Amino acid sequence: MASNALGDCQACRRPLGVRVFSFDRHIEQYRYRDNESIDGEVLEAETLSRYCSAECAWSGVLHWLGQRGIKYSGGSAGPIAICGKCGQPLDMTKPHVAYTLQEELLHHKPGYDEAEVLMAEGVADTCIQCGGAGCEEEQAETRTERPAACVP
Ligand SMILES: [Zn+2]
Ligand SMILES: [Zn+2]
Repeated sequence: MASNALGDCQACRRPLGVRVFSFDRHIEQYRYRDNESIDGEVLEAETLSRYCSAECAWSGVLHWLGQRGIKYSGGSAGPIAICGKCGQPLDMTKPHVAYTLQEELLHHKPGYDEAEVLMAEGVADTCIQCGGAGCEEEQAETRTERPAACVP
């Protein structure tokens, strides 16, 4: 169905319209200049789920975080934050994982959809071991040493 390319709301299963709430995971690192401006460099971006409303989004996001033992923090601009999972200090100038919730309005253009970001909110930050390759899903492929935080 072309009119429903984004699928259904992850929480209530209603088909998504042109206004969607997108829960994203970014791997990013910041550069601080003069303590005033922050350059954020996004190394990797992935949409984890989409929702039809703020209510669905927050219930879905908090459930998702709860399942993974990540604390909601509202995000941080650093330069030092605390990992929402293992509680270690997080150097934001190094690659780290930022979870954000964005409200987007989709404009249908010929051939593609343009997403206008209406609102973006930080949800949580974690270190790369806790949120990067994923302790659960991708662990089988990871031959490197398992970070202590991933041990149940
Ligand atoms: Zn919904
Ligand atoms: Zn961590």
